[in-house]
Formats: sequence, C-alpha cells, structure tokens
Amino acid sequence: MPNPQPKNPDSVCFCCKSEDLDCIDLGKELVDSSNFHQQNQNPPRFLYRLSVCQDCGHVEIKSDNPCWLSTRKHSFITYNEPTDYFPLIANLVRSIDIDLLDTSLHTFSYKDFNLVEYLREEFKITFVQKNDHAKTSDDWLPTSAANGDQVQPPALKNFIDEIGASAKKNKIVVISRFFDHASNIGLINAVLDLCANSVHLIFDINDYEKLFRSNTLEYVWIERRNLFNRDEIDRLAKARGTQSLMIAYESQTTSPTIFGLISNQIGKTVQISSYEALETAKPKVISRLKHLHKLWARALPQNSKLAIIGASHKGISLAQFVLGDDVHYSLHDDKESLKGKIPPVDPPLGFHRVSDFDFSSYSHVAITTTKVIAAKLIPKLRTSGFNGEFLDFDCQILN
Ligand SMILES: [Zn+2]
Repeated sequence: MPNPQPKNPDSVCFCCKSEDLDCIDLGKELVDSSNFHQQNQNPPRFLYRLSVCQDCGHVEIKSDNPCWLSTRKHSFITYNEPTDYFPLIANLVRSIDIDLLDTSLHTFSYKDFNLVEYLREEFKITFVQKNDHAKTSDDWLPTSAANGDQVQPPALKNFIDEIGASAKKNKIVVISRFFDHASNIGLINAVLDLCANSVHLIFDINDYEKLFRSNTLEYVWIERRNLFNRDEIDRLAKARGTQSLMIAYESQTTSPTIFGLISNQIGKTVQISSYEALETAKPKVISRLKHLHKLWARALPQNSKLAIIGASHKGISLAQFVLGDDVHYSLHDDKESLKGKIPPVDPPLGFHRVSDFDFSSYSHVAITTTKVIAAKLIPKLRTSGFNGEFLDFDCQILN
C-alpha cells in the first residue's frame, strides 16, 4: 500500500502558540525510530522537524504523525530506565500528607514496574495494579465517533477507568517518561485532570535544561516530542488547577533527570529544590545540530566505511538525521528481538550482529551504546583487527 502523502506539521509553539519558530527538518520522511519491521512491510513515513520557539524558548519535534503518544512502535522493543533515585521519590511521597494505608498504586507503562515494586515495599501498599497502558504508538492514534468527533484513544480511556475503579481514597500513579513522549495537549491535560480525584502523579523526564547546556545532542530523538523544562511542567500543572514539586537529579549512571510529584495536596511549606533555575531562553539546539552535521562530514572523508553499533534510539537517530545521505555505513546490534527484522533506516552496508562480525575493513566505528558497553567493546574490536577510529554520537573520539 502506498504511503499517504505526509501533511505539514502544525506551525505554532506547543506551549505558547507563537508562530515565531526556528525549525530544521530532521531527514526527509522518516520511519519511526523503533519501527523494526518485517521484510514485506512498508512502514509509514512522517515528517519530523526540530523547532525552537523564539518567544518562549520551548523545544519540540513537530511531526505530521498523528499518534498522541510516541511510545515504542512494537512491544518487543524495550528501554531501560534509571532506578537509582527511587529513595528520593519515596521522600517526595512522604512530603504529602496522605494516608498511605488507604492508597492504591498504578502504573502507566512497563517502565514504571520497578518503581512501583519499590514503593509497594517501602510503604507496605497492598493494592497495586501493574499494567502497561502505554502499549505501542498505534494504540494512541486518534479515533473518531460516528458523528465525526475525535474521541480519546481507547488506551487512555482504559488507563483513566482503571484508576477510577480503585476504591482507595488516594491513588499514586507512576508516569515515567510520559511528558516528553506526549504530542497532544488533550492527552497531557486528561492525565493532569486525574489530580482532582485524589490522584498523585509521579513523573520523570530528562533534565533538558541541563542537557541544552551540555555538549551532547544524543537526547534528540524523534520519539521525544516536547522537551519540557521545569517551568513548563509547572505551568501545565497550574493550568489544570494542580501543583508540581520537582527535583533535578544527576548520577554517574544515568543522564540528568528531573523527577517529581504532581498533586493537589502539596503543602505550601514543602520546598524541595536542588539547583537554581538555569538560563533556558532559546536553547541553541538547531545551530548545534548543524555543527554536528559538519563534524561528521569532516570525520568521514570519501571512501570511509562506518559501522554504527547499537540500534536503539541513538544509533537510529545518528543514521536518520545526523549523517549525510552519501555515508557508507552498516548498523549492528546483538539484541535477539531485532534478529531478522528490517531496521527503520536503510544502511547501505546492511544490518548485522556485533558478535562475530569482521570490522577489519572499516575505517570508523560509532558506538552509541552506554559508556560501560563501549569500554568492553573497544578492546574486543581492536583484538579482532579493527584499526580505525572509535567515535560516539557527538563525533567525539572514544579510546
Ligand atoms: Zn513558545
């Protein structure tokens, strides 16, 4: 079936509705970055555009992809999330005055299961519902009623119904990695509106304020649609009559993270803050992305052969919108779930495993996995005869 012609994404800021946006298209028409498909499938393609609002500074990736939540495309794709700040989240829960014996615990996605287990143990909560409502992106396509009105995707209705069915006075609901993947304000508002019924939301999100000031762009990923900072989340919460409490967290093992609580029961006396507000006026992500294009073009002269190791979001993003069209590259991943699948990009040198692959004819290897995995891979590839350069997503040399 031919792909429908993509429409232009809307052209106003998600946060302030300004039309004064600085934009750069990410690739031409892209297949969703987690869409590892079968040989005979023709996956849909969409336009993706990185945009910085020149009025409020909001950074987003606009798209004509209609799904309300750009979660993973298939359930065999999974992502690991940080866990080392769970004790601090428990402190946030203690800071609101609720009867934890009369409380139920709920998840939004499979990513929340570990935290919910931790909270169950910590607070001896007996009524716990672990469900993956986030499912996959296709579950978040808008549907229409018989009269043509758009209705909430069934996945959202199921989530809201589950919480409404709890007979406990309070409901603690974990929504990890929700805000940046949500692309529809109706979805965000529907979740925030739960707070009116004694729901206390626990969320986390990348600390984009920190990341915008860092030297990396590896957080740019077409499935992350709104790169909210703390003030923006605060405003979203206040606009629905509720309050938020946030902590910025940086550890050795995870990228900088914001986590917090959104609740109607945050007392005026509770003040938790771990660093001063950062300057976020207009993040320079577009000029940085242009610079990264140049760095890679310079690093890979003609006749270069590049192997990208890691077919998770960073490896795919590198191929999708950082490398030039003429780069000769292959993509590599050992994950069993990806075996035999066709990746969302089309590597001229193919999609292969890492183990037992002969890299000796390659001039460059890009390692887009974690630093820990990179440290293990580099000596292995050296021993197996690779003499070229190791680079990371940001085109920095790895030793
Ligand atoms: Zn704006």
